[in-house]
Amino acid sequence: MAEVLIRGAERLLADAAGATDILVRDGVIAAVGTGLRTEGEVIDATGCLVTPGLVNTHHHLYQTLTRAVPAGQDALLFGWLRTLYPIWARFTPEHVHLATQIGLAELALSGCTTSSDHLYLFPNGTRLEDTIRAAAEVGLRFHPTRGAMSIGESAGGLPPDALVEGEAAILEDCIRVIDAFHDPSPGAMCRVGVAPCSPFSVSRELMRDAALLARDKGVRLHTHLAENDEDVRYSEATFGCRPGQYAEDLGWTGDDVWHAHCVKLDRAEIDLFARTGTGVAHCPCSNCRLGSGVAPLRGMLDAGVPVGLGVDGSASNDRADLLDEARQAMLLQRVTRGADALSVLEALDVATAGGARVLGRDDIGRLAPGLRADVAIWDLRGVESAGSWDRAALLLAGPRRVRDLLVEGRRVVRDGRVTTVDLPVLIERAERALAELMG
Ligand SMILES: [Zn+2]
Repeated sequence: MAEVLIRGAERLLADAAGATDILVRDGVIAAVGTGLRTEGEVIDATGCLVTPGLVNTHHHLYQTLTRAVPAGQDALLFGWLRTLYPIWARFTPEHVHLATQIGLAELALSGCTTSSDHLYLFPNGTRLEDTIRAAAEVGLRFHPTRGAMSIGESAGGLPPDALVEGEAAILEDCIRVIDAFHDPSPGAMCRVGVAPCSPFSVSRELMRDAALLARDKGVRLHTHLAENDEDVRYSEATFGCRPGQYAEDLGWTGDDVWHAHCVKLDRAEIDLFARTGTGVAHCPCSNCRLGSGVAPLRGMLDAGVPVGLGVDGSASNDRADLLDEARQAMLLQRVTRGADALSVLEALDVATAGGARVLGRDDIGRLAPGLRADVAIWDLRGVESAGSWDRAALLLAGPRRVRDLLVEGRRVVRDGRVTTVDLPVLIERAERALAELMG
């Protein structure tokens, strides 16, 4: 029986008020309290804030190798995509694997213990398992989604024809990866979802068939929705309705569905999402970077919509820093609604328990006995926290990176360094990959 005791935290964000210790046994939180003991490993958390691991609900990890591409730096969504598609078409499976490793390592350093990923293009023999292998190596809990694009330029869609796939082949591969990698059991380290890329890159038929397939297999559905004004206009011009109506008509509402962005949801759409338990991945930094707007986070939370945070792809953020996302979520709501629009603890709740709910997990997202031991330990003795009166106010005066990170009780970050992969070597490889991609 493997035990780890996190002992003597200055603050612990848990239901158990005043607790300082967490006892972990076989990857599960066995107890939260004070004065706990073990014969196993002890992690001294003196001077530290301990929080649940953060949950990332939207990402395109392959994009880690296309950060800050000059021609895409100042573009709106559609122009940005047109700039990047030809570069992504040159990716190999090795590029996708490396990008995923680096992206997940960066997320881990920002306190993230569970990440979803949305891979929607498969150039040059790339397969979903290139990302699944990377996640197992880094040691993060992983929710890969099998994305897809089927409507190329010649058929009126946005992506070049070379990047789209046939719809029968897409559905066949969804079945293959679900059967091979989806684990529905509690504590699962890998759960697969089905995720056609967006209404502007796949057909209505594929959206509908994907929903039927996901329900038949008992997996979740994910896509982009209502990201900006262009996106809404496309929906109105092409489908004759707003994005919410489009989603509802094709079976894309329900507590097994989550949509990325939803910046432009109107009142009726927020009510639809609340009524049906449809989740949202809120990606504030990406929305700022692409000038998409401010998502109605406060309105969604008040209505009861399940909301988590997403860093979104590194080509539009360009960081994979989930803590930064929580701070940005808090700041953005205040820009539009005033200083009491979203508190630090509410933003952290969206980043943890909110994300867990969006991914359909009741076994992570909080620090409580019986839940999986996904834990972030933040050292409050650095310069960023010096003089702070509220030690739980991580998003106002706290470190930017974790000191230690446990996933399923395993230390993935120790003393600020990723333990599972050799990050300097990966960064060197990224330099070489860039030379290839820039051609
Ligand atoms: Zn996205």
